[in-house]
Amino acid sequence: MSKGIRNLNNLTMKSGIGRLGSTTLCLMGPLFFIACPRNSPPDTGNIGVSTRSANTNAPAVVASAVAFNGERAMAHVRKQVDFGPRPPGSPELAKTREYIVNELKSYGLTVSTDEFVAATPVGEKKMANITAEIPGESQDVVIVSSHYDTKLYENMQFVGANDPGASVGTLIELGRVLSSNGRKPRLTYWLVFFDGEESFCEGWDECAKPGAPDNTYGSRHYVSELRNKNQLDRVRALILLDMMGYKSLELGRDTMSTKWLQDVIWQTAREIGYGSIFVDRPEGVGGDDHEPFLRAGIDSVDIIQLNSYPPWHTPEDTIDKVSATSMKVVGDVLVASLPRVEQRVLDKVR
Ligand SMILES: [Zn+2]
Repeated sequence: MSKGIRNLNNLTMKSGIGRLGSTTLCLMGPLFFIACPRNSPPDTGNIGVSTRSANTNAPAVVASAVAFNGERAMAHVRKQVDFGPRPPGSPELAKTREYIVNELKSYGLTVSTDEFVAATPVGEKKMANITAEIPGESQDVVIVSSHYDTKLYENMQFVGANDPGASVGTLIELGRVLSSNGRKPRLTYWLVFFDGEESFCEGWDECAKPGAPDNTYGSRHYVSELRNKNQLDRVRALILLDMMGYKSLELGRDTMSTKWLQDVIWQTAREIGYGSIFVDRPEGVGGDDHEPFLRAGIDSVDIIQLNSYPPWHTPEDTIDKVSATSMKVVGDVLVASLPRVEQRVLDKVR
């Protein structure tokens, strides 16, 4: 993502992306919901209590069998950082991909990878998006996502512990939590890991050409594949995680995100005691992987701390900047929010 505000009108779409092939690995898994007592310290892994939300028709935040574990998410961050810099097309990103796929498979999820070739300012790059599916009663889909590539730097050891290590770690742990209660969810969930989010040139728009932005390669490819397969209408909402593991976590509201979706998450965060972390100030994010979905008419929210993360795109974006507690906070809020997102989507359908 680039710093600063940007409206959607001057965005360009879809460039130089060719389809190579797809593989599917298969095991099935269930879904569930959690909450922590208001203001309880994060990272306890405790089971929560039922609380009635201010908004009477929103489902209450319910207790559950398995809690989001910040230390497990942290272990996934450590694993990625240990692989080193992980730009698109690199052996290190291939190892990261294998790690993500194997973790999700070990939770019994159906996992597929979609390989494609992107034309970039530094030549053609082989890329691959990863999707883990949790089938629901309805074919309608909610996507929870993160990019998993690190920005390419020729002269810098950039390991991207928070960008994207933390959001990848949180998404993997969310997969474990959502797949361990043996109950079929009302909507289908896709946990999606996008390749090629970062620009290959230093600046987000520095090498952009009309119809050929130098960023969001994986998410743009994902949307075009959904369109090609007439699957776009199935996707009812996208939740994007990016740079949300900083130890001094404070999440403002991305100014491009869909308001009702953002409200559900921020409201739920307040209800379970994280109102001082999910705050009501605007966060100018400019560009990120939710844009191609917003352009395609899909309600989308970006959960990101960009402007108050000084190590952004520097060698200082290292594991000591990331905390298990911060990932636990976002994990708890996500899991408590999902039933409400479902409810809103189902209400819209009816
Ligand atoms: Zn980045």
